[in-house]
Amino acid sequence: MKYQDEYRDPELAERIVSAINNKSRTPVRFMEVCGTHTVAIFRSGLKELLRETITLISGPGCPVCVTSPQDIDRAIKLCREPDVTVATFGDLMRVPGSESSLHQEKARGADVRMVYASMDALELARKHQDRRIVMIGIGFETTVPTIAAAVYQAQQEGLDNFLVFSAHKLLPPALDALLAGEEVRIDGFICPGHVTTIIGTEPYQEVVDRYGKPCAISGFEPVDILQSIYMLVSQIEEQRCEVEIQYARAVHSEGNPKARQLMEEVFEPTDGVWRGLGSLPQSGLKLRGKYRTHAAESHYDLTVPPADEMPGCRCGEVLRGVLAPPQCALFRKSCTPTNPYGPCMVSTEGTCAAYFKYHLE
Ligand code: SF4
Repeated sequence: MKYQDEYRDPELAERIVSAINNKSRTPVRFMEVCGTHTVAIFRSGLKELLRETITLISGPGCPVCVTSPQDIDRAIKLCREPDVTVATFGDLMRVPGSESSLHQEKARGADVRMVYASMDALELARKHQDRRIVMIGIGFETTVPTIAAAVYQAQQEGLDNFLVFSAHKLLPPALDALLAGEEVRIDGFICPGHVTTIIGTEPYQEVVDRYGKPCAISGFEPVDILQSIYMLVSQIEEQRCEVEIQYARAVHSEGNPKARQLMEEVFEPTDGVWRGLGSLPQSGLKLRGKYRTHAAESHYDLTVPPADEMPGCRCGEVLRGVLAPPQCALFRKSCTPTNPYGPCMVSTEGTCAAYFKYHLE
């Protein structure tokens, strides 16, 4: 098997591929929603193993990529405040805003720190009480509980200098928007296992009930993804439509109620603006009630002018699954991982970066 080293159990993988290809009759288009899945699919050469009846398309599941240009500009505005240290996850630093990026601002002297976890930012707040530490909160339901825990802890310790700029996103409204928009044909979703460990399967049931599209909750090994594809193909060929859990070693249908309780204690839903999908009702999060004092916008004016995509960048269409990266005129030319023009090339989970790295045309 090609790319054999990427499979822990190549014989099992071959058996599943064979089962998929024997079963598949109807041409289908499945969307892998999550950037981690996108990278695993490309790295393992999985697409090349499947029959031509099965098309995989990448969706809006890279948290860096879906952060809107305005939110990048707001993060940049924050790092220009003289008393602010911005703490952020690494990939976000290189995403271009309208005029600059956090990386460029750091080079010009702004205090921007890369952190690996929200608790690292909380530690900065403990150590530097003369400064306000603003954590840039990006990510889906997987990351939100960790940011909520940091805010909760800051409140307990009276660390008023720990703030969050919340650009978090909730995944189910994006699935709803993609299907309601009918811009791209999607016959089923390979859903993110890590998000589902938190939210459980109920939100996907709405996708099944409202739109009649099957969902498979998938782990992240290539064999996991193959099994999920088998589940989706089987559902379609057997005219079933349901939510199936492939990633049963980590996911329970009820999710993680404690993590959700913490999220709901600290955050409340609000409208969220996504790159590529625009404003989606109740798809973002803001700090709730007594935690508002830890919201960056409670202390700083975060008004920024409207911001568009960079001219020529087609990340929005890539994130909606409408366009494959090689169809962007800038791909491999003025946009490369060394010199990224748009976020889908910046992020290690971005679709354009995956196409570039694994030489797909
Ligand atoms: Fe944006 Fe670059 Fe991808 Fe084109 S190739 S869509 S400019 S990230």
